Amino acid sequence: MREVSSGGAGWPNPRPGPAGKRAPPVRAGSGGAGRHKFGPLVFRAGSGGTSFLAILTIRKYPDPVLREMSRPVAVIDAKLRRLAADLLDTMLDAGGLGLAAPQIGIPLRLAAVDFDPGKRDPRILVNPLITRRIGRKELKEEGCLSFPELRSQVKRSPRVIFRAQDLTGKMLEYDVEGLAARAVQHELDHLDGLLFVDKIGPSDKQSLRRELAEMELAYAELHPGDRP
Ligand SMILES: [Zn+2]
Repeated sequence: MREVSSGGAGWPNPRPGPAGKRAPPVRAGSGGAGRHKFGPLVFRAGSGGTSFLAILTIRKYPDPVLREMSRPVAVIDAKLRRLAADLLDTMLDAGGLGLAAPQIGIPLRLAAVDFDPGKRDPRILVNPLITRRIGRKELKEEGCLSFPELRSQVKRSPRVIFRAQDLTGKMLEYDVEGLAARAVQHELDHLDGLLFVDKIGPSDKQSLRRELAEMELAYAELHPGDRP
């Protein structure tokens, strides 16, 4: 998900900072209690020295990979942790609030979400699954890194409870609301091949038609053999 201003109260601009302060999940899941272990940071270099940052290309609409149903992550190993680190670095570099693995061309059930863009609270979610959506859906503006120029109003639940494994394989349960809940719903939709433009009302969709057509044309010119 992309950060966008909403209701006149602009979303805070994320700033790189220490990633130490993180809210623990509300309840631990079947894997037992414990704070979320944040694996990718071990791959990141400090100030100066060699950088291990890997910024990957973000796939743009209508790349067909964005429509794939992502496969569950079967094994959490060094390769997966490397991929998660790259996903996170790519999200942070793009100033995003969330990024799902299909958006970097990997249809796996893996996503990065910043739970608190003001303070930086990025999480890696492996095999995430929403178990409860709570509250009346709210209409708010959203953007997406796969649609760099587009914004639209999307209805989302204000609070969600979901489960996800961390990079040690531990299953954790989260209870999030507000912006984090919106970002989680947006990113988990990506894992099912759903895009935020699928969720907007007919009149909003009509107003975006030209932009979408332009993106489709630009993609077709770059990828003449593909059929999105
Ligand atoms: Zn998105």
